[in-house]
Amino acid sequence: MISPFAVRTAFYLFGFAALLTLERLVPYAGTEQKKSFRVLFHLGISIVNSLVLYLLLTWPIFAALAYTRSQETGIAHLLGISGWVEIPAAVIALDFWDYWMHRANHRIPFLWRFHKAHHSDMEIDVTTAARFHIGELVISGCAKCLMILAWGPSLWGVVAFDILLSGASQFHHSNLRIPFAVQDRVERFIVTPRMHRCHHALHKNCFNTNFSAVLSLWDRIFGSYHLAGKPEELTPIGLSKPRGAETMEIKPFLLTPFKGE
Ligand SMILES: [Zn+2]
Repeated sequence: MISPFAVRTAFYLFGFAALLTLERLVPYAGTEQKKSFRVLFHLGISIVNSLVLYLLLTWPIFAALAYTRSQETGIAHLLGISGWVEIPAAVIALDFWDYWMHRANHRIPFLWRFHKAHHSDMEIDVTTAARFHIGELVISGCAKCLMILAWGPSLWGVVAFDILLSGASQFHHSNLRIPFAVQDRVERFIVTPRMHRCHHALHKNCFNTNFSAVLSLWDRIFGSYHLAGKPEELTPIGLSKPRGAETMEIKPFLLTPFKGE
């Protein structure tokens, strides 16, 4: 059997390399930080995170999947969702869950302590998609186990969502120059780089907006959508504090949850 972990890693590396190349060819914003350093710093964090998650969460996720399958429990089972519909239904359900998890990360002070390590990046590009504090990933992995128990997806439903989420995350964090008129149209369906850049911007119009990861409709339905029509809304990126060199140093990054508000 093909390893889901290997499939996911292959898609991840392909997306990373492709978007890194495109960012070099058609960048949206100029950068101050050295790109090679950003790649090393964020990819290094991501590799360590992946190993820790693999060791800590593989068993609980497989156990949750096996339980719902053997007991035939979960919303998908109750609704009689099976066959070819099962995977797209699982992807939509998990994307819905991810939207609310992201909102919770901004709303609940304890969760924000971890999520702000991601937002402390003062620039945004495909490497930002690899910048997450391990604490946030462990918490959201545990929440995902509960979501699996509640919905009852198949293994390949979860793998399809993980691949789509990581590709979508690389795309919407990317520093790509795509005409706003094109993004206006694309944004009706999926999250664009402009839409997510706004989520990372300090501008007051962007505050607490655009939490969706794959489908943009969650922000529209639940009133958190902001169409950033003016480039000035999309800058500066990051948090009011910390700013400067420490945002790209490993020790302050790892200690982010334990400092200040
Ligand atoms: Zn966020």
